[in-house]
Amino acid sequence: MAEIIDGKAVAREVREAVKNEVEKLGRERGLVPGLSVVLVGEDPASQVYVRNKGKACEKTGIRSVQHTLPEDTTQERLLGLIEELNNDPSVHGILVQLPLPPHIDEHSVIEAISPEKDVDGFHPFNVGRLVVGRPAFRPCTPAGIMRLLDSTGIDLTGKEAVVVGRSNIVGKPVAFMLLERNSTVTICHSRTEDLPEKIARADVLIGAVGRPEMIKGEWIKPGAVVVDVGINRVPERGLVGDVEFESAARRASWITPVPGGVGPMTIAMLLRNTVEAAKRAADGSGA
Ligand code: NDP
Repeated sequence: MAEIIDGKAVAREVREAVKNEVEKLGRERGLVPGLSVVLVGEDPASQVYVRNKGKACEKTGIRSVQHTLPEDTTQERLLGLIEELNNDPSVHGILVQLPLPPHIDEHSVIEAISPEKDVDGFHPFNVGRLVVGRPAFRPCTPAGIMRLLDSTGIDLTGKEAVVVGRSNIVGKPVAFMLLERNSTVTICHSRTEDLPEKIARADVLIGAVGRPEMIKGEWIKPGAVVVDVGINRVPERGLVGDVEFESAARRASWITPVPGGVGPMTIAMLLRNTVEAAKRAADGSGA
């Protein structure tokens, strides 16, 4: 039976470290890290995410300001706000909650955020730096996944890692992070042929698909480490992951639960990136 990777506990450790760092910055340099969160429209899930990010900031001493714009906000108006935030020295991190309404081009908005304030790590500058192996803001969910893998103590070098999903926010960046750690990485997606055969090779399996329990326990290599990123709401059962948990846990050596696995890590890593952005701004070291 697999050991559980406790995302809540690891996220708590990260938040504690951030809190100590924020206190130290205040004490030694009179600096209060600031995060601006921009929400366009009234998507209920986005409202919850934004509220949770604000609360988490408050608990760690980061100053967070929420900017809520109506659904029919023009792209020009949104870009104007980002420009203001880019130029505001009290703002160290800028996060635009995705998805944006369909009339706004997400790429243009992400590219308008100053790379030094891009605490989500989605700006092509930071993505490029990740790919070429230079220091950068790392996207929060993939960075959280790596932290969870490290918490198991396994050495990723030479391991077969299989990532199911190739989104810009999870699949692709986590694949590059695994490559950076010397794993041999396979990226699977909706056109992949014979997915069970690919998954059966994985010493480390990352499920980031967004389809309830589509990865079957019987496909998993005995002893594999399984990280389930999926958050799927299923009527009567609540939240389930992309991996069939019970059967997978019988074969894996380590596995993340849903909820309580990757979920809590995302905000924790956002806090960490925000403090890092504040420190870099104070040091004048930029992105
Ligand atoms: P996307 O919808 O952007 O990407 C899903 C990926 O899965 C795509 O690359 C798609 O392939 C692939 N895919 C879809 N169907 C199949 C299939 N049958 N076989 C193989 N691959 C398939 O999702 P995200 O990356 O944004 O999110 C994935 C999951 O993670 C979701 O459940 C989301 O809620 C969750 N999530 C959780 C977070 C957290 O814990 N904090 C943060 C972010 C996401 P193709 O590219 O070919 O379409």
